[in-house]
Amino acid sequence: MCENDLVFNSKVGRNKTAIQSPGCPFCNTDELNGIIDTNQGIILLKNKFATLIDTTQLVLIESAKHDGEISNYGSSEWLEILQYALKQWQKIQNTHEYRSVLLYKNFGKLSGGSQAHPHMQIVGLKNSDGYAEVKDSNFTGTPVVQLSGATVNISDHPIMGFLEFNVTWKNEDVKIAAEMIRQTVKYILTGYYKGRCESYNLFFYQNRGQYVCKIVPRFVDSPYFVGYKIPQKFNAERVQELIQEYLTFCDFSKN
Ligand SMILES: [Zn+2]
Repeated sequence: MCENDLVFNSKVGRNKTAIQSPGCPFCNTDELNGIIDTNQGIILLKNKFATLIDTTQLVLIESAKHDGEISNYGSSEWLEILQYALKQWQKIQNTHEYRSVLLYKNFGKLSGGSQAHPHMQIVGLKNSDGYAEVKDSNFTGTPVVQLSGATVNISDHPIMGFLEFNVTWKNEDVKIAAEMIRQTVKYILTGYYKGRCESYNLFFYQNRGQYVCKIVPRFVDSPYFVGYKIPQKFNAERVQELIQEYLTFCDFSKN
């Protein structure tokens, strides 16, 4: 086994499958256990089914609205959630109890998520470096839009591909970055691929003094990646078409 592999606790996994009831556990807030912190509608709690060995798995319930989603939140609503998530992520890192701490979000059936209710995950890895395989080159790409110190690009060297948007910002530009993330998610779910994409992931990184949010539309995984670790990407002409489509779709005029 490689030192950074994550080990799945199959006993917890089995309980998770057996106990899952038809109701939404995140709507039923009176029944939630292990709450660490709350902020209006946002709740940070321990993951009831922590399936990974040598980790601390937290769930961040974004909103009391079961059908809430980045693409349908208001700008300030999403900004508040994002800032809260970044703050809690940093707080866990500051404990120095973990070799690395991950912050990410699943949305939709093909994203790896098991709950529809809007949530993010913060996972502290005691012994693993979750960033070992992620390179600077995974964050650079063809520029799409720049506003103040925040940028959106399309990865030239995606981790998996095909399409990976990188939103990069410094702390002071978080408001613009939040709007870039919100509109990119909206584009992925309604504009991109004629609205046929129903799943995406967000992955957050801290790289060279900046935050990066990688936004990845999810489809069935490519066998080239599954079998050979070969990422795929679009050719330059298609990237330019996507950028035009994206810029027509998104509206950053209020920023
Ligand atoms: Zn719910």
